[in-house]
Amino acid sequence: MSQKPFRLYDSLSRQVKVLETQEPNHLRFYSCGPTVYSYAHIGNFRSFVTSDLIVRTARAIGMKVTWVTNITDVGHLTEDDVADAQGEDKMERALRSKEGEQFNNVWELAEYYEDAYKEDWKHLNLVEPNVRPKATQHVREQILAAEELIDKGFAYETPTGVYFSVEKFPEYGKLSGNTQESLRKGVRDVVMDENKHDQSDFAVWKKDDKHLMQWFSPYGWGFPGWHIECSVMARAYLGDTIDLHSGGEDNKFPHHECEIAQSEALTGKPFCGHWVHTSHLQVNGQKMSKSLGNFYYVRGLMKDGVDPLAIRFALISGVYRKNLNFTDQGLVDAATNIDRFKRADETMKAGLEAKRAGENTLGTELEKLYDEALEAMCSDLNTPVAIAKSLEGAKLISKEGDSITLSSAQSAEKFLNLVNDLLGIVRGSFHLQAIQENTSNVDSSRIEALIQERKEAKASKNWARADEIRKALTEEGITLTDNPDGTTSWAQA
Ligand SMILES: [Zn+2]
Repeated sequence: MSQKPFRLYDSLSRQVKVLETQEPNHLRFYSCGPTVYSYAHIGNFRSFVTSDLIVRTARAIGMKVTWVTNITDVGHLTEDDVADAQGEDKMERALRSKEGEQFNNVWELAEYYEDAYKEDWKHLNLVEPNVRPKATQHVREQILAAEELIDKGFAYETPTGVYFSVEKFPEYGKLSGNTQESLRKGVRDVVMDENKHDQSDFAVWKKDDKHLMQWFSPYGWGFPGWHIECSVMARAYLGDTIDLHSGGEDNKFPHHECEIAQSEALTGKPFCGHWVHTSHLQVNGQKMSKSLGNFYYVRGLMKDGVDPLAIRFALISGVYRKNLNFTDQGLVDAATNIDRFKRADETMKAGLEAKRAGENTLGTELEKLYDEALEAMCSDLNTPVAIAKSLEGAKLISKEGDSITLSSAQSAEKFLNLVNDLLGIVRGSFHLQAIQENTSNVDSSRIEALIQERKEAKASKNWARADEIRKALTEEGITLTDNPDGTTSWAQA
């Protein structure tokens, strides 16, 4: 099927190129998700929103998209800027922090921040992925991958773990430019571990019988290295070769470089044809950092009265490949623009109700503006142009005011729906009112039964089922609270 070409910058070939799919018209897309040891900040969300915009644009031009975005709940260590990270597990350290005191164990901590992340995701109006797998759900496959890498001669065991031998994969460095050679020369700091064959080798499995999350493996107790989870999960849900992979700029090395090496060593096939990386986000001209205390979180901004759609608008107001300066003034401007869409939406709805006779004064112009917005998105996600075209349409609609005709209102409805599907900035997906209407007759015994089932699922570590139940109940407006004594209480929104 012929369709509009979707041009995106590919970090691997370092050029803007048309996004190709192996199967006609079906995009297999993997994005790296958060490590759930704290709330995801707006810099993390900038990268997630880029992936969301890719999915929206691909669907707008008629592609089927299978989108997998993971949750890292084990194995991500604090010194993650070197290929073979050392330091502490991020989850374990978080448990010992002040905020960690409220959790009984690291599993609870992970679950709490995972729920928070999914809530923020909804508030920012991101489309739901097809699958959101967790690293801890796929440990068995990660162990099998380690074994297979050893069998194939790409990895070896030492007293501290299983290491991927970078020397065995000559293409190492093709994404980031950090080759084994440059790593050896000390261009980047590498961790000294005398058991490793080469200092640039990285861990696929860490031996550690003191780790708070540990599994038994042919190499004894331990936990997987961070990079292997994405290789394994991408393959499990999307196949040996995927069409597109995205993440933040800081994922490029070591994380994505190591993913490529492991995946291609395992399958003997290309891992991914197209890589997208989102640039950094600054806040009021400065890097977000602990020492400056300038971390911005979705929930914090919402507590200050900021409309989450305005946060989303501010995050997509700049091109994803350039650094974005997220400012207080930018948020104020974003809120003004969100109001412009809301006003257009109201004018349109009033027009549909009033059913005024008369000609359609908007149709042709709105169609043209939407086409231009879509064209901009297909040109390496040019959000500033797409937003400008959409706002122009919103202004035209509002200008009609009370005299809007029915046929103009129908064109306006179509336009606003399309813009909302493409950019997600007209209406939020979180409709509290709808939830309340749906749950006017609550069957308590059915909910109690589901809570019991969730408890059993958790006891047998079937986190997927437990999540599914929580999610289904949330959608019905039922909030679950897990109490310290092991019981779960519930309330209706
Ligand atoms: Zn990843």
